[in-house]
Amino acid sequence: MTDGFQGHTGPAHGSAAPDMPPLVRPPVPEQNEGDAVHLFQRRQEQDAPTTTPAEELAILDAPPTPEVVHAEDAAERPLGPTGRPLPDFPVPAPLATHGHARVISMCNQKGGVGKTTTTINLGAALVEYGRKVLLVDFDPQGSLSVGLGLNPHEMEHTVYNLLMQKDVDFHDVVVHTTVPGMDLLPSNIDLAAAEVQLVHEVGREQTLQRALAQAIEEYDVILIDCQPSLGLLTVNALTASQGVLVPLECEYFALRGVALLKTTIDKVRERLNPALEIDGVLGTMFDGRTLHSREVMERLVEAWGDKVFHTVIKRTVKFSDSTVAGEPITSYASDSPGADAYRQLAREVYARCLAG
Ligand code: ADP
Ligand code: MG
Repeated sequence: MTDGFQGHTGPAHGSAAPDMPPLVRPPVPEQNEGDAVHLFQRRQEQDAPTTTPAEELAILDAPPTPEVVHAEDAAERPLGPTGRPLPDFPVPAPLATHGHARVISMCNQKGGVGKTTTTINLGAALVEYGRKVLLVDFDPQGSLSVGLGLNPHEMEHTVYNLLMQKDVDFHDVVVHTTVPGMDLLPSNIDLAAAEVQLVHEVGREQTLQRALAQAIEEYDVILIDCQPSLGLLTVNALTASQGVLVPLECEYFALRGVALLKTTIDKVRERLNPALEIDGVLGTMFDGRTLHSREVMERLVEAWGDKVFHTVIKRTVKFSDSTVAGEPITSYASDSPGADAYRQLAREVYARCLAG
């Protein structure tokens, strides 16, 4: 079978380096809000890749809405960081039994946007609310596994073995993490070979879905940490999922590539997985003091509406520190605003797509 996904396969680049903003940025004339918005648009246009699809331009070129919310207004009104009134998200009801997991992919072909951080910390926060959580490291760079304290060279079995070897079972691969109730299917660079080998297989897009069948019976939530590309591994993750969570860094180039991601999700839904929904778009590395972060948030809400989570993850070094410590921020710095943000995200995810 041939399809359009091949065209989306790009080189995996997990490092944020190619996507980093310029170190010296032009000054933003904050005194005139209209000018600032247009400068923001111009910058996006200058930065836009020549391969930008028409839909992406449509999002980027959308005229700024007149009722843009600014910090001064927000201070007077009970608005959240996305510029909308912040609802109260109730604590999830306790569960008597586990199973029938919802599978959610953390997906964005850009690296360094918070996919792995969100997988670990959303998972750990859901565990605090009594959910049994399985994390799937589906990036050959193995950052999720390393971020949970595993040594990539000391793994007996990884997701690669689960995908490619019929005699390897889910229980041969799954490991416990330092968070009781949160387990992990680890990965290392072996997974890169799976992407190449799977191309020749029948039903190649459903390989992960088949591999997770047993896990779905045992867990309440399965979070898949995707690699930064829209290749066959990510298509496998989307095919195995009911939901997609899109982390987006609150920087002025954040919308680049989002249309391509949406097109990929739409294609997977049409051809492979009609149940697939976008559970939400999550603003990460938000800095409410910068005009940029607030502008990106405004544009996100314009483009994605209610799909944008009310919860926003602020930029803080605590996330890198907790990665070095090999544990989630919910245990490393349990009282920190970052931990609370992921707890709120867990409640919002629950309210949106897990309740009922
Ligand atoms: P991805 O998986 O999308 O490549 P990561 O989750 O690995 O992104 O995050 C990239 C880097 O940014 C990591 O070093 C991580 O610790 C850091 N990071 C993630 N979220 C935040 C945040 N909210 N504030 C500051 N640093 C963050
Ligand atoms: Mg990652």
